[in-house]
Amino acid sequence: MTVSLPRGTDLTDRAAAVLAEAAAARATVVLTGHVQPDADALGSTLALAEGLRRRGARVLATFPDPFVLPASLTWLPGVEGLVPSSAVPASPDVFVSLDAASPARLGELAALLERAATSVVVDHHASNPGFGRVRVVDPGAPATVVLVADLLDGLGVALDQRLATCLYAGLAADTGSFRFGNTRPDTHGLAARLLDTGIDHAAISQRLFDTAPFGWLGLLSVVAGRAVLEPEVGAGLVWTWSSTAEAAEHGLPGEQLEALVDVVRTIQEADVACVLKGQDDGSWSVSLRSRGATDVARVAVALGGGGHRAAAGFSWTADRESAIRALRGELGGR
Ligand code: MN
Repeated sequence: MTVSLPRGTDLTDRAAAVLAEAAAARATVVLTGHVQPDADALGSTLALAEGLRRRGARVLATFPDPFVLPASLTWLPGVEGLVPSSAVPASPDVFVSLDAASPARLGELAALLERAATSVVVDHHASNPGFGRVRVVDPGAPATVVLVADLLDGLGVALDQRLATCLYAGLAADTGSFRFGNTRPDTHGLAARLLDTGIDHAAISQRLFDTAPFGWLGLLSVVAGRAVLEPEVGAGLVWTWSSTAEAAEHGLPGEQLEALVDVVRTIQEADVACVLKGQDDGSWSVSLRSRGATDVARVAVALGGGGHRAAAGFSWTADRESAIRALRGELGGR
């Protein structure tokens, strides 16, 4: 049985029914977000795990190796209960994938898509090709936590501060604090429901967006200083690069590289912003952002990655210049 489940339909209810049935049977449910989880992936995982636990399921929440949380997310309620992928059963009753655009984004846990008795895929990436047995995939949803909130409603789990904190973190992160075009009237409706529980949304936002070690200023000055503007490429391209090794020189973990693109994407002469992030293994993790005219999900997919129209990425194993050449080729001339 393979069912596609756009949200807001009875098929969403059907996914909730599958999960409710599993919970009532005290089934073993393994939940995971994508590799190198962000606030949406982790918030979705922790909130749905807690909801299913309250309904009686035997829940294991995990994420793919490396089993290291970004410092910006270690405060999320429930992270202390996360277990490494090596600690989850190889053939659970139910496997739930959250915020993963493809099986590859599940790393070693992708094997559970086949080994679990049932798999449920909850995601909002436009590039999601459709995988898993039961699918709640809605590219119109601004965040996976929105779909999880629907599932919790379907499960009859009341929102409290613990759940709302996880959901709000994902919602604020994936909408850029409700600035991005993916924000809809019902996005603010959900935010209002979450704030109604009494969560400290200002503290959540400060932890997510406005907290960095002093060394970040040093790294930013170097990375911003080497930025290149190519107005003739596509609708304009601005790009720069850094690496986990360079972050370490400034006393920073590699995850601090993720915030660089938020500065680079403010440049008005370029529709597309690109930050190449050198990884420990020598490969490049490439972040793309669009100010609106360019579909960077299409560009990223063409280069082996994925994402959303305004925010996407891909991995590159060859040198930096070849990555930029390939990017220029996809963006084309003016
Ligand atoms: Mn997401």
